[in-house]
Amino acid sequence: MANYGFLIDQRKCIGCHACSVACKSENQVPLGVSRTWVKYVETGAFPDTRRHFQVTRCNHCANPPCVRICPVTAMYQRHDGIVEFDKDRCIGCKACLQACPYDAIYIDPESHTAAKCHYCSHRTDIGLEPACVIVCPTHAIVSGDLDNPHSEISRLVAREPVSVRKPEQGTAPKLFYIDADEVTLTPTAPAMRPTFMWADVATDQAHAIVEDFDLFALTARVNGHSNGHSNGASAPVREPVAVGASVEARGGEAYGAYAGGGRTAPGGTPIRTPQTQGMGVGSGPITTGGRVAEGMIQTAYTAQHKIPWHWPVPTYVTTKDIGAGMGMVLAAAVILGLGTISSTLAAIALFVSLVFTGITTALLVYDLDKPARFGYIVRHPQWRSWLARGAFLLMGFSLVAGLWFLLEAGTAFGWIDAGLTSTLRPWFAWLTVPLALGAASYTAFLFAQAEGRDLWQSPLLPFHMSLQAVMAGTGALLVVGVFTGLSDAVATFLLWTFGVSVVLGLLVTLFGEFGVAHASEVAARAAHSISHGRFRGLFWWGGIVLGHVVPLALLALGMFVGSAWLLILGALAAFAAVVGLLLFEYAYITAPQEIPNS
Ligand code: SF4
Repeated sequence: MANYGFLIDQRKCIGCHACSVACKSENQVPLGVSRTWVKYVETGAFPDTRRHFQVTRCNHCANPPCVRICPVTAMYQRHDGIVEFDKDRCIGCKACLQACPYDAIYIDPESHTAAKCHYCSHRTDIGLEPACVIVCPTHAIVSGDLDNPHSEISRLVAREPVSVRKPEQGTAPKLFYIDADEVTLTPTAPAMRPTFMWADVATDQAHAIVEDFDLFALTARVNGHSNGHSNGASAPVREPVAVGASVEARGGEAYGAYAGGGRTAPGGTPIRTPQTQGMGVGSGPITTGGRVAEGMIQTAYTAQHKIPWHWPVPTYVTTKDIGAGMGMVLAAAVILGLGTISSTLAAIALFVSLVFTGITTALLVYDLDKPARFGYIVRHPQWRSWLARGAFLLMGFSLVAGLWFLLEAGTAFGWIDAGLTSTLRPWFAWLTVPLALGAASYTAFLFAQAEGRDLWQSPLLPFHMSLQAVMAGTGALLVVGVFTGLSDAVATFLLWTFGVSVVLGLLVTLFGEFGVAHASEVAARAAHSISHGRFRGLFWWGGIVLGHVVPLALLALGMFVGSAWLLILGALAAFAAVVGLLLFEYAYITAPQEIPNS
């Protein structure tokens, strides 16, 4: 069986866009989206300038994260190595767009399903080469079987030094470049400005780009960073960015899977990295006669990409925290033997929990670009996807919480014997805890599968999300308790659990932002955008002050003024904490999407 890949010889590319146009025509790609495009990056100072091209598209990764995350096998890897998609199965969840570290996937504006380069599989299946290969006037694009030592692509990859995009992601890309400049391969290397040479930056990424430019201009000025090359006019200088030390380690892993452990391409040729190309942070800007041009490295043209996940996702995470958290904390109270929980309180708490879980499901369906296909997750689940696993966890939790609610409601209305309820209640509690915990925390594992967003790859996330669910669930139970009344034991349990979860949540939030090294330069940029950039208001005033400081202050006030007010102030604290959580989630989910991947 073949193992198809691409090689692009940037020595031959003349930037004519014939490949982009042929792809559009062959695959009927609508306006505004692209399966392949030619990125232009310009370097130098007038008159010594140079335009670099990079033909970019799906890498048909040997280890494709887009396939792993797809909940319905709409994105899949063929036996011949082509990563293919099935638009008739796609539900439009956009998870694959988050998983691809290369911006290779888009949502087709006509079919509302995911699409990308599929190696012209309809042509490949009948022995023809992809349209882009045929049309290229300089034979800069080579396709073929990487496992056949006699194929042109294999011989070139064996003979020439080749590079790939983002080897540190561990995806083992099978799109190799000859002589691609690192400034084209590293999306954040060029100076970032609100306009390209040929177009405005029209997508949400414009926010990050403007801010990022200011950030680095500021850094250059604050550091007095002329590098001895400046004319002293403090023109903003953006140095090329190395991917970082982790490249060697993680890239080695990726190619270990592909080429037997070494950092080599098939055939044994070393793969060039930013380090081996001498384009690391330490290398200075390009100069001419002691002068430094503004924007030493700038993107002149590239395809633009929209942010896939907007407000429904942070809202959905928050409502899920409330729904699952209420079930989890109620069950914990039962298991801990706080036997003074009345059936009325339990029934109301479970009802509210089910309402928020229902809102969560409704938001999940609403955010699909093909909402009518939501049932495909149940009918065709792809079990490695945490989106599919999460859907089943939500359904399992809803089923158990629903049955438990019927039992408690029946008892509250006198239709079911209280003795039966006290026998069955612990069983429901023990079943509820793992399902609620799974429903609360599965999003952390889904985010970890979203390998295009480095900030989300934090090992703290499952613990942090579970903690947020405990905080939101306890808080919601305090609000319910204001109306139903609570026994002293239950009220004390809820207030202490809420207070401790807020304190721990504050520590984990601050530690995650400032206490740990970020996995990559991209993750660090996103974190910077949250704490010091565009999202700093949401983070500090929303996530920290409203979400943690205000609730703790209200609890402290409640303890000071006495028990008559404690529950009401606790409920107010819970309300502030949940609103703060929503604002924090919005920043945390949006910021990493604004960092370009291509
Ligand atoms: Fe292609 Fe991106 Fe999937 Fe890799 S992760 S196979 S580049 S779509």
